[in-house]
Amino acid sequence: MLLNMTKNSEQKTMFFRICASIVLFFIATLLNFMNLKIINFVGDVSRIINICLVAAYFISGYNIILATIKNTIKLNIFDENFLMFMATLGAFCLKENFEAVAIFLFYQISEFFQQVAVKQSEESVANLLKSSSKKVNLKTANGIVRTNPELIEIGATIVVKPGEQIPIDGTIISGTSQLNTSSLNGEFDPITAQPNDNVLSGYINLTHTLEIKTNTLFKNSTVKKMLNLIEKAKQKKAKSEKFITNFAKIYTPIVVLLAIVVAIAPPMVFKANWATWLQNAIVLISISCPCALIISIPLSFFGTISTCAKNSILIKASQSIEKINRIKTIVFDKTGTLTFGHFQIIEINPENTSENELINLLVAAESLTNHPIATAIKTHFGNVKFNTNQIIDFEELPGLGVKARTTNNTILVGNKKLLEKFGIYFTENKNNGNVIYIAKNKTYVGNVVVADKIKPEAKFVVEQLRKLKFSNIGLMTGDKKANSETISTCLKFNLSFFEQLPQEKAKKIEQLQKDNNPLVFIGDGINDSPALATAAVGVAMGKFGADIAIDSADVVLVDGDLKKTTFLIKAAKKTMRIVKQNLFFSVLIKALILATCMSGNANIWLSIFSDVGVSILAIMNSLRTLSN
Ligand code: ADP
Ligand code: MG
Repeated sequence: MLLNMTKNSEQKTMFFRICASIVLFFIATLLNFMNLKIINFVGDVSRIINICLVAAYFISGYNIILATIKNTIKLNIFDENFLMFMATLGAFCLKENFEAVAIFLFYQISEFFQQVAVKQSEESVANLLKSSSKKVNLKTANGIVRTNPELIEIGATIVVKPGEQIPIDGTIISGTSQLNTSSLNGEFDPITAQPNDNVLSGYINLTHTLEIKTNTLFKNSTVKKMLNLIEKAKQKKAKSEKFITNFAKIYTPIVVLLAIVVAIAPPMVFKANWATWLQNAIVLISISCPCALIISIPLSFFGTISTCAKNSILIKASQSIEKINRIKTIVFDKTGTLTFGHFQIIEINPENTSENELINLLVAAESLTNHPIATAIKTHFGNVKFNTNQIIDFEELPGLGVKARTTNNTILVGNKKLLEKFGIYFTENKNNGNVIYIAKNKTYVGNVVVADKIKPEAKFVVEQLRKLKFSNIGLMTGDKKANSETISTCLKFNLSFFEQLPQEKAKKIEQLQKDNNPLVFIGDGINDSPALATAAVGVAMGKFGADIAIDSADVVLVDGDLKKTTFLIKAAKKTMRIVKQNLFFSVLIKALILATCMSGNANIWLSIFSDVGVSILAIMNSLRTLSN
């Protein structure tokens, strides 16, 4: 079963390395046992035992040894690799070869479990993106038809709207747009693509609608997307340091210093025997490795990632769990996150035109976007037919609205900032609700007012977050001040940022995060993606969320359930509590053993037995994360 879970080659190699080491370790143990019991019958097999152990040592730990050497060259000496390598060398010096192999082997086993959990989360995210783009917009003579991607033939014309992921590789026939290619190449600067450019599945369309002629089948396109999503998640992981590395940075130098003191001080000060105290120093080094801790940390993360995944929360990198514990600020996007994003049309105000014409313009302009306001308009005016083939150019301006060029008109639909941007004169509607202004060929032709409802669970979630010691809770929206304040007051927020364009959202978050104040940002749209990528922990709404938001986030709430936010935070806090308990317990036991060692009563077996005992307890403690 484990092997089935390990689809990528790096994990497969690790799996085989662990298996091989276990077999060798087992053979060595068996021979050692026979050697002790029936020495005359089989003869002396200690050489075979040692060969098995040395082989198991290098098979399971060569990457740890290489990492130690590499980091030492970079003068970045004290990390968990150094700690373990040092301990294993100490054990070899004391001829405790089994102990040496065990340190590497157990660490690798538990790391492996954690990696499998992360990989599964990543695969679920990839599948989520695959299923969210399950239907492809196929262009036919009668307009756009939503079709299963498997049915799209080579040479078909598909339409990709802003915010959507390109589902199948192909060539652009019409439209020029910015594309985010980061899931394939890790490059965050968008590229501009124009007619005749080849585009790959996995790119995310940012600004304009594109028509693409496919040049492969869906099944051949998605593979790349999956592989590279995983690659990207890995790069993210490298950004912050592991908990264990931070611990080792402090712990290892202390051990090294102590060992030097133990080796030198007694002989120098009390004229004690040099050889005895050198031996004691080696014992100290060999027992210094807090195996219980090193084994249990990855297991704790493994447990949490698995439990969260079972509850439809996908954690892309285990560092997010640790980061959440240091965070006191949480910021929500408004539309689609705190509110349903299901808008009701409450007013239609034509100006200098008929209501019918206004509605026709509105439906035409919103036909090619998936923004919640557009969806509401299309549903509300479902009987108004519009053939999307009449659209010559379409641009989504996140945070502002849309601009569509049809065979007859250029239509602008959006908030007042949009009309101001294009220098169009209009009369402001000061009513409550979200006012959407419409302009035709640079002339203002009226507005519609839409209203959204706050999710009923929002209040409860915010109260829970306060109980979880989040002192700053707020919202960040592209909407106007009045609407943002209605929600802020209702939920008693102490932060409120309104009329924020996507880049401004990200910038605000950067500012808020200055002076070591990491924050959690929760959002759902294309306009939230830069913010999701900037926040220390970005959480995306999976259901109804834009592909690029899911792609930019560190955590995905698959079913878009706001209540899962508190689940995630509670799970992360529980994990770190467990990690800290294990840390305290294993370091305490180590300290006691080191004290015995320094008093001259060193005994590596005492250390091994206590290590095994503490490790079992720590592992059991870690596995509590499986039952959140
Ligand atoms: P939020 O930040 O709350 O999720 P958005 O940034 O998606 O909201 O949108 C901000 C504002 O921009 C909306 O309240 C609306 O006024 C305007 N807007 C955005 N997209 C559209 C659209 N497709 N049609 C009309 N108005 C839009
Ligand atoms: Mg939103």
